Amino acid sequence: MEIGFPNHPRRNLLKEIEWIGKNGFDFVDLFLEEDMATPEKVDVNKTRELLEKYDLGIVGHTAWYMPIGSPVKALRSACIAELKRYFRTFAELGVEYVNIHANWPGGLFTDKEGVKFQIETLKKLVEEAKEFGIKLMLEPLDTRFDTVKNISSILKAIPELYLHLDIGHTSLYGRKPEDFIKKFHARLKHVHLHDNNKSRDLHLPLGCGSIEWEKILKLLKKYYDGTITLEVFSRDRDYVLLARDKLIELWNKL
Ligand SMILES: [Zn+2]
Repeated sequence: MEIGFPNHPRRNLLKEIEWIGKNGFDFVDLFLEEDMATPEKVDVNKTRELLEKYDLGIVGHTAWYMPIGSPVKALRSACIAELKRYFRTFAELGVEYVNIHANWPGGLFTDKEGVKFQIETLKKLVEEAKEFGIKLMLEPLDTRFDTVKNISSILKAIPELYLHLDIGHTSLYGRKPEDFIKKFHARLKHVHLHDNNKSRDLHLPLGCGSIEWEKILKLLKKYYDGTITLEVFSRDRDYVLLARDKLIELWNKL
């Protein structure tokens, strides 16, 4: 198991990677997002140098608010054009797996229509990503639409799409991350880990919310030994480091 941390996309990317490297993480979960980490602002050479300096791996992450499931076709097409720019930068940095977040139209539109819109966009994105040697992973979001059933419909329609499990998101609305692990472990390529009270997406350090970590990680460890990002958003990053110690301790004793 490898543990990573994301850069804050509204801060200087190189300084963020420096912090991640100095603190001994295994990889950077590279958030290429507005407004400080968009492709035109990334210094690819300097970023590569830093990754090498600290022997850091890299996983690609795009903005959670990309409207890939919008009922507006022009917005879905714009997503493809925009994300192609991101794929290019990821490829230059040697990224193999990139996440795309689920996105739901809501309002007057049904789950089924949301699934259809996303399948249409994701099929095209998978093909575009291939040109850059990149594989895509779908991350269920924190909405009531991100059910095993809906995510399953998307994954079934696109065999080349992988699952990126976010344990915090899949613990909301009475959902269980275990159900996603049992159903999709063969297609699981990346994990986000953070705690919450099971009703709001709080991104807390593990142990500060009510998620049953022992139970979930025990099941996860049965099938998975890959990259896990501590997606903990605390102003004081000492909590991130403490969460990492707790994760290693728990993982090793399971
Ligand atoms: Zn996440």
